[in-house]
Amino acid sequence: MSVLVFVDHTQGSFKKKAFETVNYAAETAKRIGGGDVTAVVLGTVSNEEINQLGQYGATKVLHLNDARFDNFSARAYAKAIAAGVQQAGAKVVIVSYNVSGKAVAGILAAQLKAGLVSGAVDYPQTDNGFVVKKTVFSGKAFAHVKITSDVKIIALVPNTFAPKKGEGAAAAEALNVSLSDADFGITKVAEDVVKGEIPLSEAELVVSGGRGLKGPENWGILEDLGKAFGATLACSRPVADAHWRPHHEHVGQTGGTIRPNLYVAVGISGAIQHLAGVNSSKTIVVINKDPEAPFFKAADYGVVGDAFEVLPKLTEAVNKF
Ligand code: FAD
Repeated sequence: MSVLVFVDHTQGSFKKKAFETVNYAAETAKRIGGGDVTAVVLGTVSNEEINQLGQYGATKVLHLNDARFDNFSARAYAKAIAAGVQQAGAKVVIVSYNVSGKAVAGILAAQLKAGLVSGAVDYPQTDNGFVVKKTVFSGKAFAHVKITSDVKIIALVPNTFAPKKGEGAAAAEALNVSLSDADFGITKVAEDVVKGEIPLSEAELVVSGGRGLKGPENWGILEDLGKAFGATLACSRPVADAHWRPHHEHVGQTGGTIRPNLYVAVGISGAIQHLAGVNSSKTIVVINKDPEAPFFKAADYGVVGDAFEVLPKLTEAVNKF
């Protein structure tokens, strides 16, 4: 059974989640009896970048080198991916459960009359049909969902698996589809690029602040700790809603899903909606002055104390290393 994976890129370069989805597609193909692993890449991406996909398990790459795809349009992307599914004769389609993957998956499911499982967290099981495990209730529980349609779509939660690079090369082929400007439907007129630190979805170390820090004027002590660790900053939703921090730092059910090696949560209560985005972190450190804060139940290490006293000491200690 042939598997197709949509591989997202950021300004021509693939990030961790792109390699993760290709790995996942290759492992899925193996588990369902072999077959091609076809990667679909849309927009301006160099051959050198594309060649990497073979090392993560793609056997074929369908590339549509059309600069109009450099600006995301769910309609146009879905149409191009659907053409790729036909071209590859794929029966299983994998996308990342990220912003663009979420937007594309529903349209694609409607176009291909395919069953879709959003938020998958494991490989499909085929002992009794085609069953995919997914998160429900903000990561508090799991559901096992059987897909019964001919074409099956899986949207994989980013950072579920760590990508592994191996050997291998993929054959490049042009994606045969022609799209009119009307297929895109939207045109980007301006862009504000966030520069600087490693993006949250890629970060191995994350330092995050909540309402316990009282106001944006106090973020300096968190930034100092972030700098000492070389970490990316994150925050809880109320902090972003109050404009203390920019929205791209917000993690949780309605924000980013991350899986760093270290997540340090400062002055965050640990509500279920926050945990939904961070509870797959390898090590969680919680700093909170309330010993009853729910976050301590999810923590590997906890400090009961006032952030305004603990953070400067922690930063000083980290800087000594
Ligand atoms: P609070 O709940 O106010 O907690 C502040 C914490 O700081 C407390 O535990 C307190 O003990 C501690 N504290 C206070 N002073 C200090 C000090 N000096 N030193 C140390 N600790 C201190 N939230 C998210 O974060 N992400 C989401 O994606 C998200 N999605 C949501 C979706 C829905 C549909 C809903 C209903 C809610 C969502 N929320 C989300 C909100 C969530 O329910 C919580 O309200 C929010 O996470 C709380 O943020 P907080 O922990 O920063 O603030």
